[in-house]
Amino acid sequence: RGYKNSRSTGGCIVRLVLLGKPGSGKGTQAPIICEKYGIPAISTGDLIRAAIRNETELGKRFKEFTSKGELVPDTLVVEIVAERLSQDDCSGGFLLDGFPRTVAQADALGDWLKSKDLKLDNVVYIDVPNDILVERATGRRSCAESGRTYHVKFAPPKVEGICDVSGKALIQRDDDKEEVVAKRLAEYDEKTSPLVGYYREKSLVKQVDGVGAMNEVTQRIAEQLG
Ligand code: AMP
Repeated sequence: RGYKNSRSTGGCIVRLVLLGKPGSGKGTQAPIICEKYGIPAISTGDLIRAAIRNETELGKRFKEFTSKGELVPDTLVVEIVAERLSQDDCSGGFLLDGFPRTVAQADALGDWLKSKDLKLDNVVYIDVPNDILVERATGRRSCAESGRTYHVKFAPPKVEGICDVSGKALIQRDDDKEEVVAKRLAEYDEKTSPLVGYYREKSLVKQVDGVGAMNEVTQRIAEQLG
């Protein structure tokens, strides 16, 4: 560690954005990338779900949007991300999973980084076609206690419906139900897909084919990041 804005790996500071449609595997790949670089994964979806679970004032407002598959208003998300990025563990770099999701959020992130004299190093874009995403999302199950995610078809637990780690019953996220998934994909197409071009113009995008086994995708990301 030691110098800012490095593109190299091996203990140096890296600041990454993981971009991809809902269900593209961001949540699966994020911890793997983070372990490699020794950086925290900041998932706005997780931060938002935690606020909802804890029934905070902000959480109540978030739920109105997430339950319908809509994006939470930019100002609210930017606020929680700025607060999270200001914590000590982010000083050695970070990976953003699920943020930014709109051009306004990307601009806000750019402004925040600039105000600290920092820059993003790479934007990893995991590319998966929509039909595959619907199948993936609607089969996804997770454990509220261990945080592990499964898929009824592609990554089932040892005992159906039960978490391998905690032994607790698996749940389906409300926003993984089919009609909500369709809405989330429409939200992505309209509001988030422009970010690929936005970051391409800044020569930051590393595009990765997200179709295939989890470790294949991990391997492709590793090759892209070098
Ligand atoms: P995720 O787990 O990243 O798919 O996020 C779950 C839900 O949280 C999304 O469908 C949105 O309602 C909300 N959300 C997460 N990240 C953002 C963001 N950056 N901007 C707006 N809403 C978000």
